[in-house]
Amino acid sequence: AAGLSKIFKGPASVFSKPKIVQAVDRVSLRVWHGETLAIVGESGSGKSTLGRLLLQLLSASEGDVFYEGRNLRQFSTEQMKNLRRDLQIIFQDPFASLNPRMTVEEIVGEPLWLHNIVSGKADRQARVRELLTTVGLPAAFSNRYPHEFSGGQRQRIGIARALASSPKLLLGDEPVSALDVSVQAQVVNLLENLKQQFGLTMIVVAHGLAVIRHMSDRVAVMYLGQIVELASTDDIFDQPLHPYTQALIASAPLLTPGVKRPVPLLQGDMPNPSSMPSGCRFHTRCAYATDECRQVEPPLETVSVNRMVACHRWSELQRDRTSALVPPP
Ligand code: SF4
Ligand code: MG
Repeated sequence: AAGLSKIFKGPASVFSKPKIVQAVDRVSLRVWHGETLAIVGESGSGKSTLGRLLLQLLSASEGDVFYEGRNLRQFSTEQMKNLRRDLQIIFQDPFASLNPRMTVEEIVGEPLWLHNIVSGKADRQARVRELLTTVGLPAAFSNRYPHEFSGGQRQRIGIARALASSPKLLLGDEPVSALDVSVQAQVVNLLENLKQQFGLTMIVVAHGLAVIRHMSDRVAVMYLGQIVELASTDDIFDQPLHPYTQALIASAPLLTPGVKRPVPLLQGDMPNPSSMPSGCRFHTRCAYATDECRQVEPPLETVSVNRMVACHRWSELQRDRTSALVPPP
């Protein structure tokens, strides 16, 4: 057949029991084969936790994760091992995530042993050198130690390690936020090239919108453990519907130089996740909050194709904003 869409990973519904902190609360989302999905939110929004739940680095308290349409609960041990090869993570802090006593060859080569990808030391050496070249580092780095490298180089080593098992999906947990601004663009470009080269699916977790604007196809905006808006990257930037998304965009510097959006900036801090606000969780910081907002939790509703938002007032506010931009006759 022609023109069928392929769903690579099925709907992942992830729930978590309220223990002390409900980091992720009844989130459902799909990650499409070959896309880059950004998960954006302030620290404490649950974005990293959600990423780890999707990758099975954490187990969910409730809910299910599907991979290529199959529930992971039904996977055998062997299938789970293969899954671990397919799903890899790049950590935020290249310092903390690399063992200082291991050589680059040992670090990058470890997944090759773990997954029985190489047959011996010479094989591993050759493969590691190849991986280093792939991420733009000299092959000769393989005998050196992490502390000898800059942040950007260490992040490349972390990426080489993540690529070692030939994954299908890469999760970047704030992959460039620990790096100098001048190096960030290089690492973002590298990730984009690798995605093309290996046909990867990517999930990028980020606290700001600036980094993901040019690399993501879709954006999920999280607030206090829930997705409040999910849309294409263009829609998120051109016509954000949720007041929180609008505030995030308005407070991000340099994104739209010269353009002032008629949107209030974020007010106050994020509430402590252990004492969750009633109704809409954003109501304590939202300039548009009403009594309904304080009492009734807005569902994440589908507002158009591939577009979801959780706000009681999105359409009314949208109308007001649009008419405010039209000059009177
Ligand atoms: Fe603001 Fe109400 Fe919408 Fe929540 S539901 S974002 S409080 S307007
Ligand atoms: Mg985090």
